[in-house]
Amino acid sequence: MNIYPNSKIKHNDAELYIARDATEKFLAVRGTGEAYEALQGGTAGEIKRCPLSNRNAKALRELFPFTNPSRHKGRPFTLGLGDRLGTASPGHLRLIRDADVFPVLAQQSIRELNLTGRTYDDVLSAAVWAVFQEGWRKGYGADGDHLKTPEEVQMALDCGFTMITLDCSEHIRAVEGGAPEEIYGAAVRYAAYIYNRFLRGGEADFELSIDETSFTTSPEAHRYVAAELKKAGVELVSLAPRFIGEFQKGIDYRGDVREFEREFAAHAEIAREMGYKLSVHSGSDKFSVFPIVFEKTGGNVHLKTAGTNWLEAMRVIAQADPSLYRQIHRYALDVFEEARKYYHVSAQLERIPHVSELKDEELPNLFENNDARQLIHITYGLILNAKNSDNTFRFKNKLYQIWRQHEDLYGQALAQHIGKHLDLLGVKKIDS
Ligand code: ZN
Repeated sequence: MNIYPNSKIKHNDAELYIARDATEKFLAVRGTGEAYEALQGGTAGEIKRCPLSNRNAKALRELFPFTNPSRHKGRPFTLGLGDRLGTASPGHLRLIRDADVFPVLAQQSIRELNLTGRTYDDVLSAAVWAVFQEGWRKGYGADGDHLKTPEEVQMALDCGFTMITLDCSEHIRAVEGGAPEEIYGAAVRYAAYIYNRFLRGGEADFELSIDETSFTTSPEAHRYVAAELKKAGVELVSLAPRFIGEFQKGIDYRGDVREFEREFAAHAEIAREMGYKLSVHSGSDKFSVFPIVFEKTGGNVHLKTAGTNWLEAMRVIAQADPSLYRQIHRYALDVFEEARKYYHVSAQLERIPHVSELKDEELPNLFENNDARQLIHITYGLILNAKNSDNTFRFKNKLYQIWRQHEDLYGQALAQHIGKHLDLLGVKKIDS
């Protein structure tokens, strides 16, 4: 049995810690009192062995307030680390232990919930268990990401999420170059309605996302939106414009970096004047613009990353079970056209080496190939949901089993990958 040393903690007369044996991870409680009573599980020798369930996560949040998510308003650099699979957060926390970063560990859109078959309770619980396991006491956020309807906002708040990202794209009239009030007027009214109904005077950070449009948000349009929301008394913590150039999933920035610098500086100036942060979405792997993002905002910025955790998880599969990886890769090629309807990517499949011509040890190199990255990136939902003829999951259970067995390997892959983000962003180490 493996004990996670940073999880060890006392609650009056009880001692608690997270442990792992050959089959699963669990919470062990030894002793007596409130904690022993509140957590559900079976007795196993001297301990109560409690599953890492949503119910026990809720009990843990009552017993140990540090496991609750909190707001990030007023924190300079905040990093969304959406954990699609519910397996990446412990590795993320180890990585940022000494960095000046406030992590938003729970961060999922409704589409991601549907594709992964998870609920907001599941997503938040995964963050709670990670925080407890790693003994993380510096706070973390929970972002109901790209929510569109009042019902979605209500659901996220009911689950205890501390950040609401409202996606107003459906209220933006798709007219490029039109007067800002014609295009963005309805979006502003909708944002004010949601804010007044759910967020005014409440406990959650409010981010407005106007980035899911087919055209760039001009600084003029950004200024219009900001000024109108201010008039309406809406307090934004962050705003996500659609920046010039292309922020495609899983690969570096595409476009003219000088032009990006000019436009980004203008957006950063508006955000500073209005008293909120810029939020940069699809922020994974945008290495060539990170120094600009950090410089122009003075490090006061929110960066959302998520999808590449999945890529790192699949890199682990390529290393640990090459034959399974080959099967999944072929499946991804088969379903690529279907997946492509939902994502903006430029991948060309003919530029991806054939897995039949690669040796096992060459498979992980596929994750250095942008076309292969996008292939695996956008097919994640289809891969996880693929079924056999008897309706059992074709890959999902096997994948989770390997990730559980190779938690350390996964942690190392994440450390390398997100570590590169932090280095380029110039995030400072704190002396601890
Ligand atoms: Zn977005």
